[in-house]
Amino acid sequence: MQLNDGGTRLLYGDRLFLNLGTHAAIPPIPGLQASQPLTHVEALELDYLPAHLIVLGSGYIGLEMAQAYRRFGSRVTIIETGPRLMSREDPDVVNEVQRILSDEGIQFLLPAQVLDVYGRSGEEVWVTVRTQSGEQELDGSDILVAAGRIPNTQWIGLEESGVELDARGYIRVNERLETTAPDVWAMGDCAGSPQFTHVAGDDFRIISENLAGGNRSTRDRLVPYCLFTDPPLAHVGLREREARRDGIAVRVAKLPMTAVLRTEATDETQGFMKALVGRDDDLILGFTMIGAEAGEVMAAVQTAMLAKLPYQKLRDAILAHPTMAEGLGSLFENIPLRSAPAERRQPLAATA
Ligand SMILES: Cc1cc2nc3c(=O)[nH]c(=O)nc-3n(C[C@H](O)[C@H](O)[C@H](O)COP(=O)(O)OP(=O)(O)OC[C@H]3O[C@@H](n4cnc5c(N)ncnc54)[C@H](O)[C@@H]3O)c2cc1C
Repeated sequence: MQLNDGGTRLLYGDRLFLNLGTHAAIPPIPGLQASQPLTHVEALELDYLPAHLIVLGSGYIGLEMAQAYRRFGSRVTIIETGPRLMSREDPDVVNEVQRILSDEGIQFLLPAQVLDVYGRSGEEVWVTVRTQSGEQELDGSDILVAAGRIPNTQWIGLEESGVELDARGYIRVNERLETTAPDVWAMGDCAGSPQFTHVAGDDFRIISENLAGGNRSTRDRLVPYCLFTDPPLAHVGLREREARRDGIAVRVAKLPMTAVLRTEATDETQGFMKALVGRDDDLILGFTMIGAEAGEVMAAVQTAMLAKLPYQKLRDAILAHPTMAEGLGSLFENIPLRSAPAERRQPLAATA
């Protein structure tokens, strides 16, 4: 270990826990590194307003930063190599997020390949981009790179100590987060876990509980996530495109946020809720929401999923009015019924 004020220090221990995190990747685009681009670190510390911020990447970091700077008053252009933003999300979710951000004046170029960059971020930058309609040059004041993460696993002698890395440089671990070296564990981003603070925290719990004699693993974890735009996007469980890809039969319901009565009071009417329920059972398999307080509403659905409650429990629950969560009743009303007659609900008149 190299010390800040010079010299080195050797520490001995009988167990090693690797919690190294990741850093922003700077893609090998000619001129990009020389332009001294911003990453999220500098973007969070800027003391001036970029006139025109060019953002490379449309993952959650790129989108959150783009909206923040747009609202501060910058012109913002997002360049994405893929055919759409947030490649993991369902197309209807992506379209709604893109519509909301476009309405605020954020410009999108996708699919688009950055060919080269000239100039210096903070002064003036020129970015040559190839899109389906040909090559064009963008003139910006600043460039922010939000194009993926690289694990902090290089140059510290991990492989020499028997700690294997995968092809992308993440530490190979088993379901108990044990590495390939004895008495060495890895957790969080560097172990290839889903890159969220709450997952890194759960990784820690798995290791500490197992050291205390427990038997926890990373298998079948239900991992929620939020994109903190305004309105936010929250998601937990299965997505519709994943269900189609994996041949999982589902029933899908959607509800526009305009149908949630609270939005009449708050005027936060953008977005929708979406739920996936098993076709042949009534278990909730996935939930997505774009809308105010999405993360809080998601936690209620996640709790029902963890408890393996049939969706009717939420559909028929008395949820306080006027809350955002009240919309869950209407959302789950929209789940198509199974064909079995026993499943049919009694009409209100018959039960009154
Ligand atoms: C801009 C941004 C926004 C995010 N927003 C969210 C969010 O809203 N919600 C969410 O859940 N997640 C969010 N994340 C992801 C979240 O920050 C990470 O998933 C989480 O921090 C991972 O925790 P970790 O402990 O694995 O790594 P880190 O939090 O990165 O911690 C690793 C630490 O190890 C240090 N380190 C590295 N190498 C060494 C070494 N050789 N010796 C000693 N120390 C070392 C690093 O400097 C760092 O301090 C965001 C990430 C970014 C970049």
